[in-house]
Amino acid sequence: MDHFPIFLRVEGRRIVLSGGGEAALAKLRLLLKTAGHITVFAQDPAPEIVAWADAGKLALIRRHMTPGDTLCAALFYAADEDDAEDARTSAIARADGALVNVVDNLEDSQFITPAIVDRDPVTIAIGTEGAAPVLARAIKAELEERLPAALGPLARIGKAFRKAAEALPFGRARRDFWRDYYFNAGPAAITGGETAVQGALDDLLTDHLARKARPGHVHFVGGGPGDPDLLTMKARRLLDEADVVIYDRLISQPILELARREAVMIDVGKEAYGPSTPQETINDLIVEHAQQGAQVVRLKSGDATVFGRLDEEIDALDAHNIAWSIVPGITAASAAVAEIGQSLTKRGRNASVRFLTGHDMKGFADHDWATLAQPGQVAAIYMGKKSARFIQGRLIMHGADRHTAVTVIENASRPEQRILETTLDALPTALAAAEMSGPALTFYGLAPREAAQVQADNPYSPPITAQEAR
Ligand code: SAH
Repeated sequence: MDHFPIFLRVEGRRIVLSGGGEAALAKLRLLLKTAGHITVFAQDPAPEIVAWADAGKLALIRRHMTPGDTLCAALFYAADEDDAEDARTSAIARADGALVNVVDNLEDSQFITPAIVDRDPVTIAIGTEGAAPVLARAIKAELEERLPAALGPLARIGKAFRKAAEALPFGRARRDFWRDYYFNAGPAAITGGETAVQGALDDLLTDHLARKARPGHVHFVGGGPGDPDLLTMKARRLLDEADVVIYDRLISQPILELARREAVMIDVGKEAYGPSTPQETINDLIVEHAQQGAQVVRLKSGDATVFGRLDEEIDALDAHNIAWSIVPGITAASAAVAEIGQSLTKRGRNASVRFLTGHDMKGFADHDWATLAQPGQVAAIYMGKKSARFIQGRLIMHGADRHTAVTVIENASRPEQRILETTLDALPTALAAAEMSGPALTFYGLAPREAAQVQADNPYSPPITAQEAR
């Protein structure tokens, strides 16, 4: 961070600007929103500047700046639209001790003016250190659209009510009250003016004081394969509201960052065959937090209902009469098949698809190998790396064609994604050679679609080449 964002108190302080054209006007429109004392030096000022001076909004001095003109100024803007004049005026201001901004000249400026979303007293400043003004403007436009226009007055009225709101217990009860005010009751009342908003605040407080503490609730949320863009809107919202997030090893960092900053984050990561949090401990943790009234998000990778030991956790909640719900997510098979440009089912090829696990609690999992060994079958194999040789052996033993296509997608949807194209015959050796350490989904019976047609716009997946496939 080359520029440190702060909010500078300018009330009663001098802000000086040199220039009288378009650049000066653009800055003055912003500066006139502040409580600073503005002085403009311009030989030939635009009519708007003259009008502002006539209205007493700024002091206009119709000449070039000279040394001493910026004494005691907090800020100085060189808006002369002339490099030589900008250099001359900013040198004077610097000598007089003001902080200097040269309009459209990052290099010679000591501070920069951010893009501003103004809902006074709520002010949002957006800066890109000059790297991407277009981006700053786009973010500003998005925020302008999203934030209620009345946010400013609501915040001002709300501020005066903070003491009264302390009647509610600190924490969730108070937070719920303010959320209700800013996003429901406040905006609804604002058309009636300040008294209507005051009335709404009083009513809202009475209502919230009467509320019993909200009972705990557990949302089993599918976190998808890793790319945060593949979360559902509902998952996004619940993460934003959760008091406690209990998550698995495969949940990616960018997704965890979407959780509320105050949320308690609990890692119950489980490594296949490795150290893990016992399922009973996870069950107890979920129950314990929900019983304390927390809104718990139990975040599982992919879809919570696929190889997620969901039912054991649900049984634990049911035993304690705790309310729960399931929010679906994109399972690894869906994400992985998209990355190879194929369909999970296809007319004339396979009318069904199996989701298999490579191992279960007893070891390598057994399946209907005889059916799977028939031509045209497709299976998405989860947790299939360590069991690859076992699966290969069973299928070949039951008559499967050794040349059946097999594709392994590691880290589907994540920046580290890799795709291994192989055959049933070569699977164990190809896997060993690829040394995959991330989660990997194995497709039995599917090869990536022709390279030229796949992933034209996917920044993660390099084109699949024959070389990579070996
Ligand atoms: N509930 C999850 C699956 C949990 S089991 C889901 O619906 O996706 C864990 C297995 O899922 C991993 O061993 C791997 O086989 C697969 N998996 C999860 N995320 C993956 C990813 N991003 N890429 C490839 N496979 C993944």
